[in-house]
Amino acid sequence: EKVLVTGASGFIALHILDVLLSERFHVIGTVRSKDKGEKIKKSFEELYPYAQLDFEIVPDVAAAHAFDGILKKYPDIKHILHTASPFSFGSGKSMEETYLIPATHGTRNILESTKNLGKNVKHVVITSSFASILNLDREGDSSFIHTEKTWNPITWDIAKANEITSYIASKKLAEELSWKFLEENKSDVNFTITTVTPPYVLGPQMFDWGLERSSLNTSAEIVNQALQSTPASKGPFDVPNGVACDVRDVALLHMLPLRNENLAGHRLFPISGTGLKQRDYEDAKFNLQRVLDVMNTKFPELRGKISPGDIKDNKPYLDKIYYYNNDETCQLTGVEFKPFDVTIYDSTKQILDYEKLQ
Ligand code: NDP
Repeated sequence: EKVLVTGASGFIALHILDVLLSERFHVIGTVRSKDKGEKIKKSFEELYPYAQLDFEIVPDVAAAHAFDGILKKYPDIKHILHTASPFSFGSGKSMEETYLIPATHGTRNILESTKNLGKNVKHVVITSSFASILNLDREGDSSFIHTEKTWNPITWDIAKANEITSYIASKKLAEELSWKFLEENKSDVNFTITTVTPPYVLGPQMFDWGLERSSLNTSAEIVNQALQSTPASKGPFDVPNGVACDVRDVALLHMLPLRNENLAGHRLFPISGTGLKQRDYEDAKFNLQRVLDVMNTKFPELRGKISPGDIKDNKPYLDKIYYYNNDETCQLTGVEFKPFDVTIYDSTKQILDYEKLQ
């Protein structure tokens, strides 16, 4: 079965490709340059000799009809996973051009092309974000539990004032647009939509060469920042704080809707340490102190080299983060989401092993 994955070179998308290829899907990935596609293809072919993986170039997902050519070339595409979206701060352009337009036009384009040309497409999975769930006014409010049903009330007019809220609103507006599109076109389309709403995505890079990039993506920066700290580092250790999930779990949630019809029409919300067995609704809350604690506990060789942090009782700081519950996702999928310390352990180990080889 053919699956189209947009933004296939991304941190999350490479793990999605891993799950899809190991599950024997035939993957068509979109990338922005030929070189990127070739490098990824070579790495996956080393891992899976049976890999069926092809790349198509889409320089800008927000350009009109960006995906028409691909859907015409592969009329038998059965599933579409739309992950491409800008996720880097400081481009120098306007907030509309940097976030809103790529996120919303990209999503609208893939849905329009699928409606017009993707007659065999059954499932569309869209990488949304916890950004589209969270309510910025309810941070640290234990009486407000964020779930799959919660929607961020922010408007673009308010959001455009700064870079972080612009990113947040662009994700929310893109997800909102996709559900509206389905509602408005339900008599004309044969596909279902599932969205995945991850908070901070942490975890190892799919391939070691992902560590070569001089500046890693925002999520991986947090692990690097902890590793680059020194015993004399002054912090602040209570930031950046947020709710975490593991990149491998996020990837899995993108594949499951292709196999399980019950996930159609749902928002899937991955959170570290949750699951029908684990049920830990504190585990995903983190700040730099917590990352340092995991590293200092699990890697004796790092003790005395990196900072111990300066927060003795982290709970009051972690209590200031969002409250959440993803029971619906746990019940629907049966996934036990990796605990935070496993994610930090695996990312740290990958970096330490890689450095030893240099
Ligand atoms: P990356 O930056 O690693 O991946 C983003 C991907 O999108 C890259 O392949 C990038 O291509 C591509 N892309 C970005 N803008 C465009 C564009 N205008 N046209 C074509 N391709 C484009 O980030 P992540 O893997 O972390 O993010 C993937 C998705 O997950 C995004 O939708 C993001 O919003 C979402 N997400 C991420 C979270 C996180 O913590 N990482 C949390 C919640 C949601 P290139 O490699 O060429 O730059």
